[in-house]
Amino acid sequence: MIIKERVDMLPLGCYRIQFDTENLWGSTYSRLPQKNQLNTKDVFVGTKTEVIGAIKTSGIKLTKLEDEKGRQYNLDPEYPFFIQEIKEAPEFKNEERFKGNLYFLGPDGRKISMKTNPVSFYINYDKEYLPFLIDVEGDGVVYCPKCKQIFWEWNEYRERHKKIHIEPVKIFYSL
Ligand SMILES: [Zn+2]
Repeated sequence: MIIKERVDMLPLGCYRIQFDTENLWGSTYSRLPQKNQLNTKDVFVGTKTEVIGAIKTSGIKLTKLEDEKGRQYNLDPEYPFFIQEIKEAPEFKNEERFKGNLYFLGPDGRKISMKTNPVSFYINYDKEYLPFLIDVEGDGVVYCPKCKQIFWEWNEYRERHKKIHIEPVKIFYSL
C-alpha cells in the first residue's frame, strides 16, 4: 500500500509495516501479516499526550481479549463494547489510572450502560490494550466465549459456562 499522507496527518494508532518483494505478475491479495512475521515491524504513530487526548474525547472500542496463555478472543463488532467519558482517576500520586463508563450496543442499536460502572483501567497506549479492567467494586472483568459477553457479577445463568470463562490479561481496543 502506498500512503501519501504526511505522518503527522495519519490517524493515531498502531501500524504494521512489512518489507517484501513485489511480484508484479502475482495475483495474491494484500492482507495483514501476522504479528512478528518475517520482515514486519509494528510502529506507533502519535505521542502519548495525543493518544490520551483522543481517548478522552472519543472513547475507545474494545476489539479483542487475550488470556494468560496468549489465546485471543475477538469481540463481535456488530455488538460492540465501548468505554466513554474517560478521565484520569489516580488513586495514588502519579498513578496513570483512568475511569470511564462501559457500554454495549443492544440489538436495537440502543446504547446500554453496564451496572458495574464506572470501570477503571490503565492504558498501554503504544500496544493499544488495557492490562486490566475492573468494576466499581475492584473485581476484574470476565469473558464468556460462548455467550460472547463480558461481565462482572455472577448469577446462575452465567455459571453455566463457568469452565470456559476467561479472565483476560490484555483487553485490546481501537480508537
Ligand atoms: Zn456463557
